[in-house]
Order: sequence, then structure tokens, then C-alpha cells
Amino acid sequence: MDCAKCDAKCCNYSKFIVRLTDEEVESGKFDDAIAWQRYIPLPCVYLKNNKCSIYEHRPTVCREYTCKGDTRLLTNAGDIWCYDSEE
Ligand code: SF4
Ligand code: SF4
Repeated sequence: MDCAKCDAKCCNYSKFIVRLTDEEVESGKFDDAIAWQRYIPLPCVYLKNNKCSIYEHRPTVCREYTCKGDTRLLTNAGDIWCYDSEE
């Protein structure tokens, strides 16, 4: 997995949502509508030019996520991680 070479497929994948913790909801760092629903739908509104625009305070789920071995998102095409748009 090399996020630097990836075009943020996980942040764009519309079958995912990013759940916020109670602390994140109450932090005031997220848009009101997102805090109210307690999750970020994807593709993510904070993704700008395939970069996370809130990287310093991105949600815990984003910090901990790895696509490696996540068959919901990925197909194995050599060593290039990519999502299966047919799914
Ligand atoms: S975790 Fe995987 S899909 Fe997400 S940006 Fe990194 S390499 Fe891309
Ligand atoms: S908050 Fe940042 S890391 Fe998380 S899904 Fe959105 S763009 Fe990706």
C-alpha cells in the first residue's frame, strides 16, 4: 500500500462512510450537517485534489484504515491497489 501513489480511492469509494466518534462530533471541527449525522458520506467532501484537506484532524477511522487486504475496496492487479468498480 502506498497512499502517496494512490488517487485516494478509499476516500472516493461511495459504498463507505466515515463514522465519527463522540469526541469528533463534539469537536466543532466538522461541518454542522456532518456532525449532526455523525458520519461523512463518501466520496468525501473534505477531499480536495485527491488530498485530505483536514489531514491534521481527520477522523480516527481515516487514521486507522488500511486498504491492504480489504476486499470490499480492492482487487489485486499486480501490486497496484485499485477498487473494483463492478462491485
Ligand atoms: S489506504 Fe489504500 S486506497 Fe486509501 S489512499 Fe491509501 S493506498 Fe489508496
Ligand atoms: S476526512 Fe480526509 S482521509 Fe477521511 S475520507 Fe475524507 S478526505 Fe479521506
